[in-house]
Amino acid sequence: MAIKYKHKCARCRKNYVVITYRTRYPLCYDCQKGEMVGEIKDPKMKKMFNIPEKFYRESTFLRSIKINYLRFGKLSERQIETFKKAVKTMKDEEKS
Ligand SMILES: [Zn+2]
Repeated sequence: MAIKYKHKCARCRKNYVVITYRTRYPLCYDCQKGEMVGEIKDPKMKKMFNIPEKFYRESTFLRSIKINYLRFGKLSERQIETFKKAVKTMKDEEKS
């Protein structure tokens, strides 16, 4: 698992964002939520993105995948796989 640390949001410079070394431009939930709205027509994708809002709040990765999908209308197999895995991990963590 990648090391996580907190960094101030690159846009508002107010909220902290949990990031990994791979995050180049950390943005907080508040700054990104506007980009996360949009209609998802594909039922499979709709189901996949239908997760508790707080998961999006906690994860820059989940937010970026959703925004990517809304922007480009598609995702790679690998992105889908990683998204599902991340959601599962968060659900498991919640249970324990
Ligand atoms: Zn922000």
